[in-house]
Amino acid sequence: MGSKSELHILFRRREIKGAVKRLAGEISQDFRNKNPLLLGVLKGSFVFMADLIRLLDFPLEVDFIGLSSYGSGTETSGKIKVVKKLETPVRDRYVLIVKDIVDTGLTTAFLFDYLQKKRPASVKLCALADKPSRREVPVTIDYLGFTVPNKFIVGYGLDADQKYRNLPDICYLEDGT
Ligand code: 5GP
Ligand code: MG
Repeated sequence: MGSKSELHILFRRREIKGAVKRLAGEISQDFRNKNPLLLGVLKGSFVFMADLIRLLDFPLEVDFIGLSSYGSGTETSGKIKVVKKLETPVRDRYVLIVKDIVDTGLTTAFLFDYLQKKRPASVKLCALADKPSRREVPVTIDYLGFTVPNKFIVGYGLDADQKYRNLPDICYLEDGT
């Protein structure tokens, strides 16, 4: 095995709760009476989605889409494919993408493109975290939780090799050696 990785807390659960509350307020102002479709990008968004929608007190619908980049490795290769389709027709709908983190921006840019072809009324983006230092394509984040440094973030739904999604705090992994 490689070198040991250590977990460090970046944002505690209280801080996350505050950020989600702020986002819910912003989203409520813009989407009340629009019956929006909140579209979670699997798997990283599911914890964030669950907390967010319980703070929205107006009619909305939820769906999920699965995206993955071609090839192996942890780096995004740039070629994205849909591995789980959304089930809801998005034509004329107010779509709000709910994403864990915008890193290179490649999957988000792909998803915007993919959705625009289906002629929604609008597509907006809500991201729990933004890692702007790694951006390769421009992405507009309409509702943002946290800006994070160039570190590998885990917890609150985000994984490292499918682990750590259950951590209630947002942490980063760093070489302990
Ligand atoms: P993109 O590079 O296309 O913006 O992001 C693609 C995906 O890579 C994200 O949705 C997320 O699942 C994963 N990703 C990017 N940065 C991180 C990170 O710091 N931690 C974790 N757990 N996943 C990340
Ligand atoms: Mg992942």
